[in-house]
Amino acid sequence: MTLSTHSPVSAPDALPPMEFGSRSSRLRESFDHAGIDALVVTNPSNIRYLTSFTGSAGVVVVTAGSLVLITDGRYRDQAVDQVRAAGVDAEVEISSTAQRKLIEAALAGMGRIGLEADHVSWSTQRRYAEDWFPDRELVPTTALVETLRRRKDVGELARIELAARIADDALDLLRPRLLEQPTELEFGRELDLTMRTLGATRPSFETIVASGPNGARPHARPSSRVITEGDLVVIDFGAVVDGYCSDMTRTLAVGEVSDTARRMLEVVTSAQAAGVAAVRPGVAARDVDAVCREVITEAGWADAFSHGTGHGVGLDIHEAPGVGSSSDATLVVGDVVTVEPGVYLPEHGGVRVEDTVVVTTEGCRPLTHSTKDPTPIARPRPA
Ligand code: ZN
Ligand code: ZN
Repeated sequence: MTLSTHSPVSAPDALPPMEFGSRSSRLRESFDHAGIDALVVTNPSNIRYLTSFTGSAGVVVVTAGSLVLITDGRYRDQAVDQVRAAGVDAEVEISSTAQRKLIEAALAGMGRIGLEADHVSWSTQRRYAEDWFPDRELVPTTALVETLRRRKDVGELARIELAARIADDALDLLRPRLLEQPTELEFGRELDLTMRTLGATRPSFETIVASGPNGARPHARPSSRVITEGDLVVIDFGAVVDGYCSDMTRTLAVGEVSDTARRMLEVVTSAQAAGVAAVRPGVAARDVDAVCREVITEAGWADAFSHGTGHGVGLDIHEAPGVGSSSDATLVVGDVVTVEPGVYLPEHGGVRVEDTVVVTTEGCRPLTHSTKDPTPIARPRPA
């Protein structure tokens, strides 16, 4: 298999459209419960979700009757073009010097103003409370847009799925390379480049390539260590397509590895399969974590599984819902979550296996498909 036989599956503009039209009206349905008349949205991913605007600076004001995107002169054309192309019913207001006036105008007559508590800095909150809106009630809100973002629509799923496929194909192409003693950094860079060549905008986070003892650290950064015979290699990576992330981990065994390493691979792979089998609508996210943890605990490695089982994936690489022992989320159809248990032993390295799955009415459907065979020889994937 070569790059030339592996052209990008399809361009983002050939993918099904996303349903921007209903997002702000679904958001407004949460206003009563949140005790607000309007919401000031400042988180960039939430702004993108509501308006499709991708600029780095902007504020969205949502009231019962309007959706206003306020940004500065750098984004004049881009903001109008993106909002129009997505079919979003929003006013676009541009000013580099009078944003305060525009925000005040958008909030005229609103008594209770919601701020995104997880994204507003202390200084911004003070500016709003003491300077801009001293006579209004400022209400901290939590996860109003993030909750909407959990249910991915057809267009969003198509983007995540394409990102996942690009990552699958990149790993397929590069698996044999592990036998040529690359450094972790070299392998990581080649994986990133291959994903871009296959159509990714960029990697969805800094690719993790952790070999031998480095694998025992779940979030190791790639080093100049040479990958050699006997290593387990944890490869955790993903692609971004049109703003949407994929996330996958495979652990490969280079040459002959120790019996303990083999056992780690078996245990983590079966824990991960059990976790995926437990994903369905109505299940508590923490129960998916418990299912994975039970398999690893039975193998005697409870303490070596030192992180939560997974997380939501979408516009952000880590988003709602969390899938861990302290999560209070219940899975719903349209949630896209990872299942990624791991075992980390300083003397043997690490094993983590991760798939991204979408919750369906029947259970879940994996979006990442790379083989879990740990041998670094490319094999055809089932279609
Ligand atoms: Zn990952
Ligand atoms: Zn992950």
